[in-house]
Amino acid sequence: MRDFICAANWKLNKSPREAVSFFKEFLPIVEKSNSQSKILFFVPAIDLWVSQEILRDTEIGFGPQNIYSKNDGAFTGENSASVSKEIGCTHALVGHSERRSLFFESDELIAEKVKTALEQNLHPVICLGESLEERKTGKTNEVIGRQLKAALSQVDPEQKVTLAYEPVWAIGTGEVATPELAEEAHSFLRSQMNELKGSAFSEKTSILYGGSVKPDNCENLAKMPNIDGFLVGGASLKVESFSQICTAQY
Ligand code: PEP
Repeated sequence: MRDFICAANWKLNKSPREAVSFFKEFLPIVEKSNSQSKILFFVPAIDLWVSQEILRDTEIGFGPQNIYSKNDGAFTGENSASVSKEIGCTHALVGHSERRSLFFESDELIAEKVKTALEQNLHPVICLGESLEERKTGKTNEVIGRQLKAALSQVDPEQKVTLAYEPVWAIGTGEVATPELAEEAHSFLRSQMNELKGSAFSEKTSILYGGSVKPDNCENLAKMPNIDGFLVGGASLKVESFSQICTAQY
C-alpha cells in the first residue's frame, strides 16, 4: 500500500522562532487526531536545526527544500545532502518549479540531486509539472513525461521516491486543478513509471498533487485513485489550514 502524504513547503517563510511556535501549536492537534496521513515539512535551511530538535521524537518527517548534487566543496550558498542527513533530516524536496524556473535547474541537474539524496538515505520528493503555455499547447504529457524520465534515470527500481505533480499554473494562484484533470496527469505518471521501472515501482510510489491545495478542496482531490497526498505551499503556513489538511479523513 502507498503512503498517503501531506507535505508542507514553507518556501522562504518563517524564522526559527516562528517555526518553533508553529510546531508547538501544530503537534498537539495532529497527535490528538487519528490521522493516518504521513506528514512532512520542507522548511528553509536555516530552520532545519530547530525542526529536528522538535520533530526528532515524532513520526513527522522533514528536510530541506533543495539540496546540491555534491555533498561538499567549493559550492558557495548550496545545501549539502549529507549534512542534512547528519542532522536528522528524512526527506529532501527536489526539482520544485521555482528551482527550475528561477534558478535554472535542468532535468539533468535534478537527476543528479535525486541520486545524491538516495545515496545519503534522504527520501527525495521529486516535483514536476507543466506551465500554462505547455498545457494550452497540448504538451502536458510530453513535458511531465520528459521530467519524469530524467528524474528517474539514476533510480534503481528497488529504491523509494515520491513524486509531486504540480502544474505551474496552479502554484500560488488559487487556481486548483480539478480532481479529474489532476487524476489524468497522475495516472499518466503512474503508467510511465510502470514502463520505465516496472509495476512494483509504480505501485509503491506515492504521487502527491500540489497547487493551491486548501482545506476545502483536499477531500475531493483525495478521492481520485492516483492522488496519494498533497504538497502544500500557502496553506501550510498557518497551523489551522495545514492541520485541517493533515487530519481530514481520506
Ligand atoms: C508549492 O509551493 O509547492 C505549492 C503547491 O504552493 P501553493 O500550495 O501555495 O500553490
